[in-house]
Order: sequence, then structure tokens, then C-alpha cells
Amino acid sequence: MPGREATGLLRQARRQRSTPPMRSPAGAVRIAALVALCASAGCRNLGRVPEHENAVVRGERCLEVRDFDGAKLYFERALQASPRNVRARIGLARTALERGDPQAALAEADRTERECALAQQDRIELLIVRGRACQRLGRPVGLVWAYLHRAYEAGGAETKQRLYKELVRLSGQLPPDAPGLKEFMAAGPPGGAAPWQRIRPRRDWDPAGKSDAGIPMGKPFRITVHHSAHDAFIAGSAARSAAASAEVIRRMHAYHVQNRRWQDIGYHFIIDPRGGIWEGRPLHFQGAHAGAAHNKGNIGICVIGNYDAQGPSTAQVDSLTWLVRRLCAKYDIPSRQIFAHCELKATTCPGRFLKRIVVELRN
Ligand SMILES: [Zn+2]
Repeated sequence: MPGREATGLLRQARRQRSTPPMRSPAGAVRIAALVALCASAGCRNLGRVPEHENAVVRGERCLEVRDFDGAKLYFERALQASPRNVRARIGLARTALERGDPQAALAEADRTERECALAQQDRIELLIVRGRACQRLGRPVGLVWAYLHRAYEAGGAETKQRLYKELVRLSGQLPPDAPGLKEFMAAGPPGGAAPWQRIRPRRDWDPAGKSDAGIPMGKPFRITVHHSAHDAFIAGSAARSAAASAEVIRRMHAYHVQNRRWQDIGYHFIIDPRGGIWEGRPLHFQGAHAGAAHNKGNIGICVIGNYDAQGPSTAQVDSLTWLVRRLCAKYDIPSRQIFAHCELKATTCPGRFLKRIVVELRN
């Protein structure tokens, strides 16, 4: 009888769980010996490192888990033992910054530079502290950029990875002639991948597709940003996966070709709800997105969603900023030539929330 058998097994299992595990005396001795061995190995390890270095490591661990009191305590302990310990000083500056006291962070950075011998990586860490502290103090964005960009330029791969997104975000608020901005955007993200590899090629949504959109683009000299005005349901479905985004782009393409009687999807780039950038109409063809009078030399970017109803996601703003800056750098487009659709034509596109971002990109 399988039923009774199962009940029996269940009862047996419950009994086993409720009885404490048997431990043989020999087993207990082995465990105790192991614990002692580990402890002594640990002691030997700790013994090799000076006490203040241990305090620095502990302080950094506290900082990682945002235990600011613990971090401060350990860094100060390290400095009592070794007053010129650079890592402890920088640790104190970072702790002050993270706990929301940028003024104290700047004071610590000054003191570190005055009193300590700095290695290259220490200088980089201090530039980062200064840049972030200035940002939190509301200092001019050009100054924040100058510190962080210098750290980025001087830093290795790990530093570049850490700072790249932050710099892309800042770039949206900078004038296009800010020092190093053009080169930064032209070089693309760190890590070896060619910058344009971030853009999904057309075959990702249109495997069999061939675009022959007729009018050649020539050299682009302006950019116009749109939204798709999709309702939350469709935009939400596009957010599920890359395959779902591809499906929404295919439907957009079908609508443009079948209903609007255009030769191809109207936009050159589409940004999905997760910030993925997709190639639309090839850039060597003029787009169909801003009206006959304004399509000439005009790169069309469409952000999926309705931005009269909600704000774009951080990922979308990051991607739009990156793409626009990159196109400006590549084709020498001045930032005054960046438009929201509604600035060229009476329309609500790209929605008031996205328009605000476009205006920031231009100014
Ligand atoms: Zn539009």
C-alpha cells in the first residue's frame, strides 16, 4: 500500500529530524583538533602582518558593509599606530563621504596629500573622493568631471570599470567642449569591446531583413529624440527580455511599412525599456521620423515607452546619453542640434519627462 508506506517514511523522517545528530567522542576530538589548527594558522597569518595593517583591512571591510562607526574606529586605530598610513587616511576620507559629510571628506583628502607619501593609486583614490565630494556639495559639474575624468584617465582597468557609468551620466550635463569629453565618448566603454558593439545589429530583430530605404542620408548634422508612446502594457512586455523587445520593434516596423507606407522602420535607433540600444534603419539612409521638412541629415532615436505618463528608466537615460554623445563625437554634431520631436513639430512626442532629458543633453 503506497499510501501507508509514504506515511511511515514521513514519520521516520520527522523522528530523524527531531533527534540530535549522534556524535562519537572520536569525532568530537577530531573537530576540536581541526578548530585548534585553524585558529593557530589564523594567528600565524595575523602575526605576519603589522597590527595597523590589520586594522586597515578591518576598516575597509566595515566600509564595504556600510558600518561607518566600525570603519572610522579601525582606521583611527591604524593611524594611532602609524600616523602616516595612507590607506587608513583615504579610508577615513571615504568613510566621511559615504556617511554624508563631503566637507570632512575633502578635509581628510587635503590632510592626506599634505602629510603622506602618495603612490599613483592613492592619488587616483583621492581624485575620486574629491570628485564625488564636490558633486555632493553641488559644486559645478565641470569640476566634478575634471576630478573623476582625471582619475579615469590615470586608472587601470578596474578603476575605469568603476567610473565609466558615473562619467557617462555626468557627460549629459556638460557642455560639449568640456575637456576630454569628446575623446572619452569616442573611445567608448572600457574593457576592449568596440564601442559600437553595444548596439544590437538589425539582424537581432530582423534576421531575414534587408533595408532599402531609398534616400541616402549623407553626413548627419542633427539628432531627434522620440518616444514610441506605447502604453504601459506593451512597454512592460518589451522590458521582459531581449526577445520581447525584438518583437515590439518588429511590430513597430510592420506598422511603419504597412500602415504608414514607409519603406522601412522610421527610426535609426531604438532604446528598449532595459536600456538596450537597437539598430533600426541603417544610418546611410535618411530616416522617416521628423516630417519631410526635417528628416534630412537627421538621426532618429526612439525610446520605447510613453514619457508623458512616466519618467524613463536610469538605464534608458544612460543609454540615450551615451548614444547621443557618441553620435555627436563621431559625426561632429554640435549639441545645439539635439532636438526633442516636439521642438520641430506640434506634437507631444517624446513626452514631457523625456523632453527634459533631451534639453539637458543639448544644454
Ligand atoms: Zn516623435
